[in-house]
Amino acid sequence: MSADPLGQVQFVQAQLQSGVAVGGVGVEELQAFVEEHPRVLALSGAGISQHSGIPTYRDAAGVWKSNKPIQHGEFILHHATRQRYWARSYKGWPNVANARPNAAHIALSKLEDLGYVQTLVTQNIDRLHQKAGHRKVIDLHGRLDQVICIDCGETMTRADVQNWLAQNNAHLDEIKVTAAPDGDAQIEGEVLNDMQVPSCFRCSGLLKPNVVFYGSSVDKEIVNAVYDQLSQADALLVVGTSLMVFSSFRFCKFAQENDIPILCINEGLTRADDMLRLKVLADCGSTLQHLVQALPARG
Ligand SMILES: [Zn+2]
Repeated sequence: MSADPLGQVQFVQAQLQSGVAVGGVGVEELQAFVEEHPRVLALSGAGISQHSGIPTYRDAAGVWKSNKPIQHGEFILHHATRQRYWARSYKGWPNVANARPNAAHIALSKLEDLGYVQTLVTQNIDRLHQKAGHRKVIDLHGRLDQVICIDCGETMTRADVQNWLAQNNAHLDEIKVTAAPDGDAQIEGEVLNDMQVPSCFRCSGLLKPNVVFYGSSVDKEIVNAVYDQLSQADALLVVGTSLMVFSSFRFCKFAQENDIPILCINEGLTRADDMLRLKVLADCGSTLQHLVQALPARG
């Protein structure tokens, strides 16, 4: 993600308020366009996991709805930040672990089976596309079901780390919380001072979830893999994201520069609205289901 995502979001909001947006079209037009441009690279975001009970960061106008997310630098530098992260994540993780894919995830996986979606790039870290049976997925921002040691590179399952957290933080069990985006939860106050944070089971090094925090950046290899897939696609289909972070918006810029049409299904504004060929302003799940039913299988 960019070094200053919050600053960028404010800039984009100012742009959006100045009226850069396109009107929506019907799903039939989208279907006709996909039939003529059948090799699609899909790019999904938090809006798609909303109906699986995982909250989104922003409302339809792109405004932040809850706490600012954890910053990478602060997580690495400050023990107190890690205490806050692991306490909130300990309470928030079960909501992600137990989440089930919804109609949108399932329809995208069927579009892969039918031969339309060639590659799916997701900003989501919840692994719901994989749970829905989607095969070719690039997890742009990592995966929350893994934890990685930044000292020795060892990865471990989040389930094992969750067990450790439970055994060492019994004082958190009584606390009620509200689920927040990305497996986070609202939790503040003195209880954080007693929070025991996990360390590497192998080298006792510093552990972080295997995700890209704000203030860090996506691996170049992953970005280049997406560019490579995108350059072979007939169209870029953006689903359930406002594209506020540069890590995903850059693929729209790449598509525009290479004359690859950009299609979008989103209920709210996006940062790429003035770059879109077609936009369906509707629920992702029902729109994608319609596409699955209307499109013939490709040979
Ligand atoms: Zn280690």
